[in-house]
Amino acid sequence: MVRNDVDVKLIRNIMNTIEPIKAFTDNYIWCIHDNTNAVIVDPGDAEVVIRYLNSKKLNLKAILVTHKHADHIGGVSALKKQYNGVQIYSLLPEIATHLISNGDSIKIDLANCMTFKIIALPGHTLDHIAFYGNGILFCGDTLFSVGCGRVFEGTYEQMYQSLMLIRALDDDTLLYPAHEYTLKNIKFARTIEPQNNTLTQYYIKCLDLVAKNIPTLPIKLGLEKLINPFLRCDVLELKLGPALIKCSPLEIFTHIRILRNGF
Ligand code: ZN
Ligand code: FE
Repeated sequence: MVRNDVDVKLIRNIMNTIEPIKAFTDNYIWCIHDNTNAVIVDPGDAEVVIRYLNSKKLNLKAILVTHKHADHIGGVSALKKQYNGVQIYSLLPEIATHLISNGDSIKIDLANCMTFKIIALPGHTLDHIAFYGNGILFCGDTLFSVGCGRVFEGTYEQMYQSLMLIRALDDDTLLYPAHEYTLKNIKFARTIEPQNNTLTQYYIKCLDLVAKNIPTLPIKLGLEKLINPFLRCDVLELKLGPALIKCSPLEIFTHIRILRNGF
């Protein structure tokens, strides 16, 4: 599959390939593989995954689950039936074969072994986690390019702290969110930061990618920190009116997250 150019160097470094499988209207089910075995992240739909694995003659070794929403776990039980012995890494006892929790490390046995650390990211759901390692973060529905997930179960403060945890990672980290929301997120972000030139340039690039049906993801954290308003609540040159100038970053985060809900 054609991809954007951000990740090519890193993919060569780790020698495994990471590709998106499109599902539903805007989900990406990420697949890491070594041309023989595959690991799938958040399989909301089994059918598209099975079709993809068959087309590449890949065996499914493991499934990583970030959170319990149906568009992330809907395909797990069908895949478990289809692929004998598949390892399911999740916080959810009802689907896990390998029950994990915050701070655990897991080793994925592909040709090039990969280790991922489990990071708790409460906010979108209380038990949302991310998988971090090898310069890569699978962040589910916590962070999207130029946006973040809705706060369904946690508090705004929990979501903000989760985003700050991501922001503290290495700038070269490649982020792999589970949805293609980038263009809509950019349109919203431009209402918050109309003077942000990096954001304008990124918008032009993403318009082109989307027109060619190429994913805008993954994206480097270093760039995301310059364009994602939810990572910039402490540095925003606010166009939000004088009432917000004295607000804390958390209050600004809460305000713009609620604005985004109605956008
Ligand atoms: Zn979700
Ligand atoms: Fe989702």
